[in-house]
Amino acid sequence: MNKKVLVVGGVAGGATAAARLRRLDEHAQIIVFERGDYISFANCGLPYYIGDVITEEENLTLQTPESFKRRFNIDVRTRSEVTKINRDKKTVEVKDAGGKVYEESYDYLILSPGAAPLVPPIEGINAEGVFTLRNIPDTYRIKNYVLQNNPKSAVVVGAGYIGIEMAENLHLLGLDVSIVELSDHIIQPLDFDMAADVHRHILSKGIALYLNCGVTGLYFQNGTYEVRLSDGNSIYTDMVILAVGVKPESRLAKDAGLKLGIRDCIVTDNHMRTSDPFIYAVGDAVETVDVVTGNKVFVPLASPANRQGRIAADNIAGRDSIYGGTLGTAILKVFDMTVAAAGCNEKTLMAAGIDYEKSFTFSASNASYYPGATYMTIKLLFEKKGGKILGAQITGYKGVDKRIDVIATAIKAGMNVFDLTNLELSYAPPFGSAKDPVNMAGYVASNIINGDMKIFHWHDVKNLDLDNVTILDVRTKAEFSKGTITGAINIPLDDLRERMSQLDPQKPVYVFCQIGLRGYIASRILIQNGFENVYNLSGGYRLLKSVTTPLKAFHVNGKKLQSTKEKQSEDQKTMELSEKGFAASDVPPNEE
Ligand code: FAD
Repeated sequence: MNKKVLVVGGVAGGATAAARLRRLDEHAQIIVFERGDYISFANCGLPYYIGDVITEEENLTLQTPESFKRRFNIDVRTRSEVTKINRDKKTVEVKDAGGKVYEESYDYLILSPGAAPLVPPIEGINAEGVFTLRNIPDTYRIKNYVLQNNPKSAVVVGAGYIGIEMAENLHLLGLDVSIVELSDHIIQPLDFDMAADVHRHILSKGIALYLNCGVTGLYFQNGTYEVRLSDGNSIYTDMVILAVGVKPESRLAKDAGLKLGIRDCIVTDNHMRTSDPFIYAVGDAVETVDVVTGNKVFVPLASPANRQGRIAADNIAGRDSIYGGTLGTAILKVFDMTVAAAGCNEKTLMAAGIDYEKSFTFSASNASYYPGATYMTIKLLFEKKGGKILGAQITGYKGVDKRIDVIATAIKAGMNVFDLTNLELSYAPPFGSAKDPVNMAGYVASNIINGDMKIFHWHDVKNLDLDNVTILDVRTKAEFSKGTITGAINIPLDDLRERMSQLDPQKPVYVFCQIGLRGYIASRILIQNGFENVYNLSGGYRLLKSVTTPLKAFHVNGKKLQSTKEKQSEDQKTMELSEKGFAASDVPPNEE
């Protein structure tokens, strides 16, 4: 007998599951219920429609109920909310657009209800000019508000992916945008040290950042919203976007007695089957397994939702198909910068009790002699023993997308840092280097694991005991004169062999250069000349400066609120630094 399969939710996971099932089973009866007006829409494109980057409304919807019917012979019912699952009878109750409730039976049910924006319980949160963004109606509400009220300013609460995208797009519309973030840094998959350059880039665009700040209330007075902050300051604005995260839409599953896990996500096995063998669940509403740690995680991203939808359909169609867990691979455009991450960051590795090491490399996107090369920082996290790759974060301009995907593939394949050195990646001057940034990250991490290079990190610098160690700056005299680590002596790398007698071989030597390469060469020279304890600063002085220099701008911790004019002049300076990737002085020619 032909199967009857119902799907709850008609966007990423739901639409994928339905289409895949049809391709595998031409005779199944498939009905998709979607509470909203639209199916298969481009959630990920919504901020760019608001910012007029995507200009055509019809580009937001990839399928319509009619096109789905024609191509896949699937019965799509929009404005139809599934309100109850009767597991004993294998039926669902559906409320249609007119409010009529009816029952529909199933052989299999697939839940893909997604996740809803979190709305913190603070005063004024439901005011007219306060928005969340999840779907097309939310998008129109924001867009119409901007068109009708001509706001001059906006506050974005929450600096995750959606928050940053909204900040950029509202800025593109000419609004004066402030971002408020509870944590000490934006984009939580990044560690603080990798977020530091991104903070400066955002500030350089004239966006204000309030880090370590929560919102305690929103008050509307005289046509303006006062956004009151936990540090006592207030921002006055014309509109507010709340982007503080999402929660799984698991109420339907919970009411039906299906097993829930972390953060109330629906629990499934690796076939995407829930605790009821006739009900599958996919997408933002489900708990998944972290590929690296094996821990249960909530990762609401489009790629997992689509892959899980396909796997649920495979299994219903009788094909044994397994979901192998989630890496959290993600990428974000931050104006002209690109920020990407895959696998674990330091916080998740510490929480999982994994003994890890990290390396930082600063590499050109392509041959530096070919016009237009820019620099990217790669942070690689790997097991101390054996070098298995655990995670990566990359910030830069060109070519970040390619490198994060290569490393994500390596993590998924269980590769180690030595494998990265052996990857044969495409190369011609406009696209890369014969030693690709991924190879370079592998070389540096391998040197650490092999013991060819001992390292210290930017956060170790403040603990160095100046009386008992030598801090050696091997950059040029000119670089040294512009700023160095307190207590450092300067012996440029090329003079080191001649001037080595100036160093005390009994003392540990902490070497550094601008990005780590000259420091590595210096440490090899010293080690082979009898110095036993030599450590090279990972990521070099550039990273140390980036992480430890207080942001010049106005709004960090709400401490200093500058006028717009002051702000712009600060921005200009920062922009000059960041426009081409990084300051030219960051990478002296002999480090490339
Ligand atoms: P959804 O795609 O959200 O679909 C769930 C649907 O189920 C909804 O339309 C809802 O109306 C419907 N529904 C819920 N309950 C019921 C019910 N009881 N009856 C009927 N229908 C119901 N991810 C990325 O990887 N990269 C990005 O760049 C990115 N950008 C994003 C930008 C924005 C603004 C947003 C909101 C999300 C973004 N995401 C991004 C996340 C990505 O869109 C989601 O991970 C993905 O859509 C999840 O798919 P899903 O099927 O689980 O849920």
